[in-house]
Amino acid sequence: MGDIQDVETITINALKELNSFLLVDVRESHEFANGTIPGALTLGRGFLEIELKNRQIELDHPIVLFCASGLRSKYAALGLIALNFVNIYSLEGGFEAWKAGGNSVEQPSTILSQTEKNRYARHISLKDIGLHGQLKIMKSKILVIGAGGLGSSCLLYLTAAGVGEIAIVDHDIVDLGNLQRQVIHNETMLQKKKVESALHTLKALNSGIKIKIIDVAINTKNIQPILEDYDIIIDCTDNFNARYAINDAAVKANKPLISAAVQQFTGHVMARTQPYSPCYRCIYPEAPPTTLSPSCSENGVVGIIPGILGLHQANEALKIILNIGDTLDGKLFKLDLLNNKYQLLETKRRTDCLCHNQ
Ligand SMILES: [Zn+2]
Repeated sequence: MGDIQDVETITINALKELNSFLLVDVRESHEFANGTIPGALTLGRGFLEIELKNRQIELDHPIVLFCASGLRSKYAALGLIALNFVNIYSLEGGFEAWKAGGNSVEQPSTILSQTEKNRYARHISLKDIGLHGQLKIMKSKILVIGAGGLGSSCLLYLTAAGVGEIAIVDHDIVDLGNLQRQVIHNETMLQKKKVESALHTLKALNSGIKIKIIDVAINTKNIQPILEDYDIIIDCTDNFNARYAINDAAVKANKPLISAAVQQFTGHVMARTQPYSPCYRCIYPEAPPTTLSPSCSENGVVGIIPGILGLHQANEALKIILNIGDTLDGKLFKLDLLNNKYQLLETKRRTDCLCHNQ
């Protein structure tokens, strides 16, 4: 181990000129309560080396460490230098000097507590999510319409992921025939409102998130004000009237929409995240006659297909929030569980569609 005299330091002014570097707060978690420097990773000192390794940080990537006054960060720097990191700096004067200089401070409300860090540890370890990604998830607001088969898995996993605010729209009650696939409900909730049953399950899973229930049947008249408050709309309904009403309202409000539908062993998922992308009506301009579109109750559905596709919807929502990976924007994902076949089809925008002039 070297000497702390040998650790390179950087002044606050020089830090402000630095580009493309990792800023790490190595203080203890209780010290974060006073805020931190904006953009800093609040990793603490205890698992610093492991955290950086998990993030696959290159050994020559510039890293600036800071603590309260600039001493502990030098010791933390020595630990990293011993692991062959070569561009390590300690911020002179630490957070106290930063704050005393009148610089902006990121408030504690945007910083994860130790409990939250434990809960979301597997997300935080992921290079594509990390602490900042988790914070993005926790600040997001998602509207899920339908607490049935698709909504069950979608809602459970969005809640587990820590989405900050979720609203659930449904007007049905829980029926015994629902429990074959609608796993958010259970036998103790029979004959209760689905929104109440879903709320009960989700609160037991993650009490830290805000859940709003909206007990209405969606139609063209009531949909628009409902979706205004949310970043992403997820259509988990099971009928064409609701699906077109939601599509048209999301297009009008220019909100990202993730739709899915299931039948027997098959189903599909699509998303529209950009104003110039095809909408649901571009692919299915009109609802088929009811004789050609039998419902789940008439034709049956294997319980697992809405489970899988509801999860696919939740995953697409997280990718949109995090701006990572390839989304289903402009694509239709079709799945056939009976024959283990899937297709990813490019979709095209129709010039005569209502979305074209939005
Ligand atoms: Zn369209």
